[in-house]
Amino acid sequence: MRRKLAAGNWKMNGLSDQLAEVEKLCGAHPNPKVEIMIAPPATLISSMVVTAADHPLEVAGQDCHAKDSGAHTGDISAAMLKDAGASHVILGHSERREDHDETDDDVRAKARAALAAGLKVVICIGETLEEREAANTLDIIAGQMAGSLPDILTGENTIIAYEPIWAIGTGKIPTLEQIGEVHDFIRSKLEARFGDGVGRSIRLLYGGSVKPSNASEIFAVSNVDGALVGGASLKADDFSGIIQAL
Ligand code: 13P
Repeated sequence: MRRKLAAGNWKMNGLSDQLAEVEKLCGAHPNPKVEIMIAPPATLISSMVVTAADHPLEVAGQDCHAKDSGAHTGDISAAMLKDAGASHVILGHSERREDHDETDDDVRAKARAALAAGLKVVICIGETLEEREAANTLDIIAGQMAGSLPDILTGENTIIAYEPIWAIGTGKIPTLEQIGEVHDFIRSKLEARFGDGVGRSIRLLYGGSVKPSNASEIFAVSNVDGALVGGASLKADDFSGIIQAL
């Protein structure tokens, strides 16, 4: 059985006082049945690890460099995230692909580095509105999977997040049929490439405008093992509602 996962991506939001929301969240879910993760900005990783010290909440980075160390001003390595207490790193988010011109090759190199450093990876894929309207979604997803996923992944060390770019922060979500179609497609591609055992064990998250009010119906879709949540992960009450829906 794949364990359900509620993952929050704070993006470039949150100063120290935002950790009060984490305290509240941990208090509201002392023994969560599902896995809970938050990816704060890198500046808050260590302090969030301390805040959640007595709680199974996992802390993730939002990106890492493909190299272990060196002259890369402003970048952060997988080993640094691990050293700060992170267990996971989000890679290939569409905002990174767009703002920093990250390619599938870059994402795959980062994933290899993260796995080698002992981090687990959350690899993001998803189509633009133009690609969806041109009926290219599944081709785009197949291409991103072929390019971004390293060969060494397992169900234990890798999670895939399907985030249609047009659904991120817009309040628009695909129909449940559309979500199911893409998640079933990702599952079948994983099984074909990695074998049935590994292919079936990798968790697939949906991301894009997930809220307490739409979480239950999204989580009922086949092959949806949880969510990667942006805006609604910033407030403990909202994120709690999503966790409860799992
Ligand atoms: P929103 O939940 O704010 O739409 O963001 C989704 C996302 O990009 C998570 O990585």
